[in-house]
Amino acid sequence: MRVSVIGCGYLGAVHASAMAELGHEVIGIDVDERKIEALAAGQPPFFEPGLPEILTSATASGNLEFSTDIAAAASATVHFIAVGTPQAKDSASADLTYVDAALHGLLPHLKAGDLIVGKSTVPVGTAERLAAIVAEHGSGATLAWNPEFLREGFAVKDTLEPDRLVYGVADQTAADVLDEVYAQALSTGTPRIITDYATAELVKVAANAFLATKISFINAMAEISEVVGADVKELADAIGHDVRIGRKFLNAGVGFGGGCLPKDIRAFTARAEELGRGESVAFLKQVDAINLRRRQRVIDLAVDALDGSVNGKKIAVLGVTFKPESDDVRDSPALDVAVQLKGLGANVVATDPQGIENARRRHPQLEYVESTDDALRDAQVTVLVTEWAEYRNLDPARSGDLVASRSIIDGRNVLNPAEWRAAGWAFVGMGRR
Ligand code: NAD
Repeated sequence: MRVSVIGCGYLGAVHASAMAELGHEVIGIDVDERKIEALAAGQPPFFEPGLPEILTSATASGNLEFSTDIAAAASATVHFIAVGTPQAKDSASADLTYVDAALHGLLPHLKAGDLIVGKSTVPVGTAERLAAIVAEHGSGATLAWNPEFLREGFAVKDTLEPDRLVYGVADQTAADVLDEVYAQALSTGTPRIITDYATAELVKVAANAFLATKISFINAMAEISEVVGADVKELADAIGHDVRIGRKFLNAGVGFGGGCLPKDIRAFTARAEELGRGESVAFLKQVDAINLRRRQRVIDLAVDALDGSVNGKKIAVLGVTFKPESDDVRDSPALDVAVQLKGLGANVVATDPQGIENARRRHPQLEYVESTDDALRDAQVTVLVTEWAEYRNLDPARSGDLVASRSIIDGRNVLNPAEWRAAGWAFVGMGRR
């Protein structure tokens, strides 16, 4: 099939490459010239495991091309919209200007039988509004909403082998087109839910709201554990054995971040309020508040570890990305902690295997070093805030020889406290005994 992908960021670049890998002829379009230049040269403009390989093979095969000109979409019959839907600057709502611009840019190039497929995460009601615009334009094209569930760090696998496909469609023809696009995944038994626009849009935000709630639930338990001297990790293990609860996403720590969960729960709350149902998801405000409190908790622990003031003290911050295996620093708890400690006068030295460039662009006031050893050297306290394997596997004895003071805050609960304490470290976890 001939496919266009409009918006080639974390979602779109992977989607375009994966579609080409599946044998479709793909044109990736973005307004960012730098990004398109890099992608056309076979170089991902961001870090995502597995992407360089499929991008290179797809561009070499001739199945994948890139352009900054939306007119290049004219040759395709299926048009994925994968542009950003960030939080609005002045409210909790999603900013839909990029989605609207992409659709309006596409309209003059549509023809009868074309299918526009929304992949961006949008507030419920968006697809219906956009479908009306498409119908009014009169090209004979139609619209579907097909939310994306990929996880950064696993995006290539998640796109090629999704755990489910959700089609929000107005008619069976649109579902048939999507079946052709996803024939490979469907042939291996991937579950597919064919539904209306509103349900498809809600599935995505409901999934993210659930995941965020699960994380904040265990972080709330961490807060209580901290008061009574209980251990939230043992608590999570114990409740996680109940199959109705499950152990996944029950890891207490510095909380969630990234370009999706935080802004998606806020946009959901704002949309529910617009619909007169704010009370139905009012708990998401608590989920958000608990999450943000965990960042403050790490800062408080650092202040405690340094006898009441971080001012002028060297703090090693391990990790700036919102999670490992990504270079994404959007709403990253790790970077937020580093910035706030710096704001309190600490001499913060941050490191990360992939995120330094993005972090520096946003927060040039921080000092960044490439090597973990350089970050640890002479640190008076060490704060682990992104659970990269490199940090999980740190050797407490060797690290202890580098720092000025053997004091560590495990903001992700990934280290073994007994091992670190045995090596002479003052060790503090999140909600841990
Ligand atoms: P991103 O910021 O990395 O990418 C968005 C891209 O769209 C940018 O490259 C931008 O230049 C481009 N763009 C903006 N306006 C455009 C226009 N008019 N025409 C062409 N390109 C345009 O964002 P992302 O992380 O890829 O997220 C995109 C959407 O996918 C969001 O709605 C997000 O919530 C959703 N999503 C993201 C993920 C994820 O893990 N990143 C997962 C599922 C869903």
